[in-house]
Amino acid sequence: MSIQALKGFKDILPDEVGIWQHIEATARDIFHRFGFTEIRVPILEKTELFARSIGEATDIVEKEMYSFSDRNGDSITMRPEGTASVLRSFIEHGLQAKLPVQRLYTIGPMFRHERPQKGRLRQFHQMSVEVLGLDHPRLDAELIAMGWLILEELGLTTTLQINSLGCPACRPAYKEALVAFLAGRKEHICEDCQRRSLSNPLRVLDCKSSHCQEQYVAAPAIIDHLCQGCADHFSQTKASLDLLAVPYTVNPFMVRGLDYYTRTTFELVTDALGAQSAVGAGGRYDGLVEQLGGAKNMPGIGFAMGMERLVLLLNQQNADGCPETTTDLFVAALGEEATVRAFPLVHLLRRKGLQVAMDLEGKSLKSQMKQADRAKARFALILGEEELTKGEAVLRDMTSKEQQQVPLAGPPEALCAILVAAVTRTEQ
Ligand code: ATP
Ligand code: MG
Repeated sequence: MSIQALKGFKDILPDEVGIWQHIEATARDIFHRFGFTEIRVPILEKTELFARSIGEATDIVEKEMYSFSDRNGDSITMRPEGTASVLRSFIEHGLQAKLPVQRLYTIGPMFRHERPQKGRLRQFHQMSVEVLGLDHPRLDAELIAMGWLILEELGLTTTLQINSLGCPACRPAYKEALVAFLAGRKEHICEDCQRRSLSNPLRVLDCKSSHCQEQYVAAPAIIDHLCQGCADHFSQTKASLDLLAVPYTVNPFMVRGLDYYTRTTFELVTDALGAQSAVGAGGRYDGLVEQLGGAKNMPGIGFAMGMERLVLLLNQQNADGCPETTTDLFVAALGEEATVRAFPLVHLLRRKGLQVAMDLEGKSLKSQMKQADRAKARFALILGEEELTKGEAVLRDMTSKEQQQVPLAGPPEALCAILVAAVTRTEQ
C-alpha cells in the first residue's frame, strides 16, 4: 500500500500553487510599502518559549502543540505561531539597538494538533507581522489598516472586530468581576471553563462551545473596566481607524486565544467559512518582550493571517482573481536534427527572460501542438526537417493563428532577438 500524508497535513499541488504565490506576493508588496522587512526564524524552538509567551492555560499550550524530546532529551516544539519566535530572535540579536522601531514580517508553516476540518489544519501557513518599540495608538490603526488593505487588494470582503484587553493595571479588577460572574454560572459551563475560571478566567470567553457562549453574553465587559490610559489608547485607536476609513465593530468579548495580549486586539472575520471565521487576528503585547527576558518597556503589536483560509475565500469569492500561468513560446522541434538545433536556442531564450517550453524528445507535430496548448503557449515556433532545409522556421501566434516566417541563418543570437521582439511586441 502506498504511503499517505499525515492527517491535517496537506500538499499544495501545482494547480493550486498559483493562488498561494499570488497571495504571498500581494502581502509582501504591501508589507514593503509599509516599511516592513522580512525575518526568517526556525520552525523548532524550545518548548519553554511558547509556554512562557502564549501561556500555560491556553488551548494551544494545553492541547495543540507538537512537542517532543529530541535525541538529547531536550523538550522541543514545532512553532504553533510566529510571534514568540520573532521576539526571541529580536531579543537574542539585540535588534532594537540597530533600529528603535522594528517592523518585521515572516511567512511560513505553523503546527497545531487540532481537529482537521475546512480551514483548520495541523500544518497551516501564516503571514505575520510584528512592530516592536512603539505603543502609539496610531500604529495600532496603521497595522490594522495594512491587514485590511491586503484583503482589499486580494478582492476579499471581511469585517473587522476590535477590542481592548487593558493592561496589568486595569485587568485585575476586571478579572475579579469576571470571576464573580463565573462563580454564579458554574453549573452551566463546560469543565474546561470551570477549571479556567480559576486558573485563567479571561480564557473562558474564548471557549468554542456555543452553550458556554450563551452564558457569557451577560458577562461583564473588559472595555467597561479599562484604566484611563487604556481607555484613551482605545479611543485614539478607534479615531485613527476612522481617519483611515477602516470600518470596525467593537466586540467586547473577543479575548483571543493567547495570553500575551494587552490593549488592542482585533480579528478580521468572514461569514463564508463556517466556524473558521477568522482570516486574520492579532493585537498588542506590550509586556511580552520583558516576559521573554528582553528589555522592559518594549511595546509590541502584531497580527497573523491564515493563508489556507485566504485561499478558500479567494476560490469562493473571485475565482478569476489569480493570474493564469502561461508560456511565452513553445518551440516545437521535429526530429533529432531540429531538436539538437532548438535545444541551445531555448536555453538562450530563457537566459533572455522568456518563458519557453520544448519537447526534449522531438516527438510528432501533433503531440507537440497538444503540449503547446496545455502549456497555454502564446506563440509556437515550428522547426521541422522542411524548415531546416528552407532555412526558415514558422512562428505561429496561438491566439490569432497568424503565422510568419523567421530566418534560421546567422548566429543563434539573431534568431533569438527576432523571437524576443515578436513575443514581447504583443504583450499587454
Ligand atoms: P481560531 O479561532 O480559528 O482557532 P486562532 O485564534 O487560534 O484561530 P491565531 O492563533 O490568532 O488563530 O492565528 C491567526 C490566524 O491563523 C487565524 O485567524 C487563522 O486564519 C489562522 N489559523 C489559526 N489556526 C489555524 C489552523 N489550525 N488551520 C488554518 N489556519 C489557522
Ligand atoms: Mg485556534
